[in-house]
Amino acid sequence: MGRFDDERREMIALLRERGIADERLLQVMGKIERHLFVSEPFVNRSYDDTALPIANQQTISQPYTVAFMTEQLAPKAGAKILEVGTGSGYQAAVLAELGCRVYTIERHVELLLHARKMFERFGYRIGSKAGDGTVGWSEFAPYDGIIVTAAAPEVPDPLLKQLSDGARLVIPVGNMDVQDLIIVTRDGDSYSSRETKGFKFVPLIGKKGWNGQ
Ligand code: SAM
Repeated sequence: MGRFDDERREMIALLRERGIADERLLQVMGKIERHLFVSEPFVNRSYDDTALPIANQQTISQPYTVAFMTEQLAPKAGAKILEVGTGSGYQAAVLAELGCRVYTIERHVELLLHARKMFERFGYRIGSKAGDGTVGWSEFAPYDGIIVTAAAPEVPDPLLKQLSDGARLVIPVGNMDVQDLIIVTRDGDSYSSRETKGFKFVPLIGKKGWNGQ
């Protein structure tokens, strides 16, 4: 038995209770050792359903939020996915384990370098770079899905343009205190969206985010 196996099983049971139904996703989150992505002082709380601090005043998202956003993104195996906000690398790991081809951008170099070490450790082939993800990553566009893990004041239009036909963008949009999770689907030149209320993320900072120029 591994460290925290029971706690991880309990986390999965809670996600199920809270309505996460995608069995493959539950299996993947039941396998990934979240405690390896968490900062040392918080390791004992790794499987609580809560966000936890990481370096640079950022957070690893709450397990329910990771599960809900991934379920809304609904990526197929082999899908090319862009993540904005690498943070600890946990969400990217979930997508990689689901068989996605993952590209991820983080504005804090220190966090990115740490996440890269995690990707190497687990053998994930994830494209990553330090920079402003509000403008997307045009080099590898279009994407079959884009997931933004920090809160934006509005949906950044470069990200819409980098979606392939039929693809989804999942992004929290609101003020600094509370956001709605917006799910935008591209259909040719038009976009439809729906939302779920009541999320709280750290701010998305950049050209098309907060403090943008
Ligand atoms: N997905 C992460 C994980 O699994 O640990 C959670 C990330 S945390 C909630 C949001 C991250 O977005 C932070 O690490 C923050 O530095 C990053 N961020 C904020 N604005 C950004 C931007 N414009 N481009 C890239 N990353 C950004």
